Formats: sequence, C-alpha cells, structure tokens
Amino acid sequence: VAFARAQQSGEHYALYSSHEERAEVPFDDLRDAILNNRLEVHLQPIWDLRKQCLGGMESLARWNHRERGLVPPDAFIPLSEQTGLIVPLTRWSVNATLRHCATAFKAGHGLPVSINLSARVFHEQGIVEQVLGALNLWEVPPESVVLEVTENAIMEDPVLSARVLERLRDKGLRIAIDDFGAGYASFSYLKQFPASELKIDRSFVKDMLVDPRAAQLVRAMIDLAHHLKIDAVAEGVEDKETADRLIGMGCDFGQGWYFGRPQPADTFIASL
Ligand code: C2E
Ligand code: CA
Ligand code: CA
Ligand code: CA
Repeated sequence: VAFARAQQSGEHYALYSSHEERAEVPFDDLRDAILNNRLEVHLQPIWDLRKQCLGGMESLARWNHRERGLVPPDAFIPLSEQTGLIVPLTRWSVNATLRHCATAFKAGHGLPVSINLSARVFHEQGIVEQVLGALNLWEVPPESVVLEVTENAIMEDPVLSARVLERLRDKGLRIAIDDFGAGYASFSYLKQFPASELKIDRSFVKDMLVDPRAAQLVRAMIDLAHHLKIDAVAEGVEDKETADRLIGMGCDFGQGWYFGRPQPADTFIASL
C-alpha cells in the first residue's frame, strides 16, 4: 500500500542520513537507482583476531547519486523497507555482492562474505530460491556466505524468520545476529535460532575503554557466544587499544575503521 501511495503522489520522504543532515529521498529516484544499477557494493574487512589475518568482509550498499554523491544506506534502507523497494534492493544486493565474490574466488581469494538481510524479505515468496539461485549463478559456495539479520528483524516474526533461515542454513549458509545487544532481544530466540555468529553492537564496543560497564557487557556477550559454540564479532573497533582488549577477552573477529573502512568492492578485491 505504501508502495502504491508513494508512487501515486511522488511523495518525498524526510530522512536523516548518518551525518544527521536532513536528506529528502524521493521514491522515484530510489526506484530508478535500483533498476538502473546506480547502487554500489562497498566491502569492509572483518579481521580474524585469533589468527591475525583477514577473516571475511561485509557488503554495505551505497547509492551513487547524480547530485548528492555517495548516499549512505541509513538514508535509503528505511524508505525501501517502508515501500517494498527492499525486495528488488535485496535481489540486487545479493547478486551484486556474489558477482564481486566470484571475481575474488577466481583470483584465489575464497573469503567469506556477509550480506545484510532485512526482515521484510522473509515474507517474500521465493526468497530462499532467489538466494540459492544467485549462489548457483555465480558459483559461490554457500559455506562462504553469512546472512546478517538484526535481533529486531527476528523478533518481529520469530516463527517466520526461523523457518526461512533454517532452510538457508540447511543449504550451508551461515547466519549472524547483527547489532546484538541493541535490539528488543529475548533469550528465547537464541535457544532455537540457527545462528553461527553474534555481532556485538558498536554502541558497546565504542565505550569499552571509558565505561567499565560497557566493557563487562562486551565480555558477557563474548562468553555467551562461546557457551553457544558460536563466534563473537565486535563491530565498530576504531583503535588498537580496543582491539587489544577484545583479543584479551577472547573475541573471535573484529570489524571497524581500525582494521579498514568500507571501500568500493573493485578496489577492495584488487587489494587482496
Ligand atoms: P550494519 O550492518 O550495522 O553495518 C555496520 C555499519 O557501521 C556500516 O555503516 C559501517 O560503515 C559502519 N562502521 C563500520 N566500522 C565502523 C567504525 O569503526 N566506526 C563507525 N562509527 N562506524 C563503523 P553503513 O555502511 O552506513 O550501513 C548502515 C546500515 O545499513 C548497516 O548497519 C545495515 O543495517 C544497513 N545496510 C547496509 N547495506 C545494506 C544492504 O545491502 N541491505 C540491507 N538490508 N541493509 C543494508
Ligand atoms: Ca551488518
Ligand atoms: Ca551491525
Ligand atoms: Ca547497525
């Protein structure tokens, strides 16, 4: 309904970019950007803290806008979720990411890639087949793909989420719980949920050095992950001190500006 309404009225959505400046994102503009391939995949390294080597990468969407330059996803993902554009956007994101991975694989760099999945797409008929079809097309092994889902997405419809994600897990894909600790969480989903990674939200990691309670919570989340026999990934690691603390706590992976910023996929893969 929102999709049709926005289409009719040519309504402009008021949104805030991550830089907190007001940005008006017109629906038609975003639809055209998705259809005409003006979105780009950027990749950010995920660092293996135990082996001290590159452990993977996360795919992050950017919109290369004619006038505005690179628009961050916070300025268009919420609009795409409200209007149904998230469905073609996800199709684009999965395909474009795996296309870049195929290039990396052919060059001998078989790194796992993490792709963000919005809860909205769980309702989409054939979403599982779409993901599997893309893996097949680009000849990327399912074991190399991690699907990142937020706690809020899971809690919106735990039964449906579990059903969709279990089917994907059964095909060999891995599931990460994104922004862990920042959402409306319930331990009950951890009990049945087929996750293989917990990504500790940046809001805890960024305060670790100055706030002992934040540090204790990070430690507790790492221990929780290990009790569940899954990997802990810390997000938003911006300096060496934080990285060292995380290593001391036994955290498995780290992601953040200290290890590398998101870069255009071609640049990232050429640098491997
Ligand atoms: P996220 O999945 O939590 O992604 C991590 C965000 O933190 C990214 O912002 C990344 O650039 C940023 N970041 C990484 N390291 C640091 C750091 O050390 N310090 C700080 N301050 N920030 C750091 P980005 O790229 O703006 O993405 C924002 C959100 O948009 C993502 O949050 C994700 O939820 C969503 N998103 C991005 N691409 C897609 C996509 O293709 N599909 C869907 N459904 N969502 C996407
Ligand atoms: Ca993510
Ligand atoms: Ca996250
Ligand atoms: Ca986030």
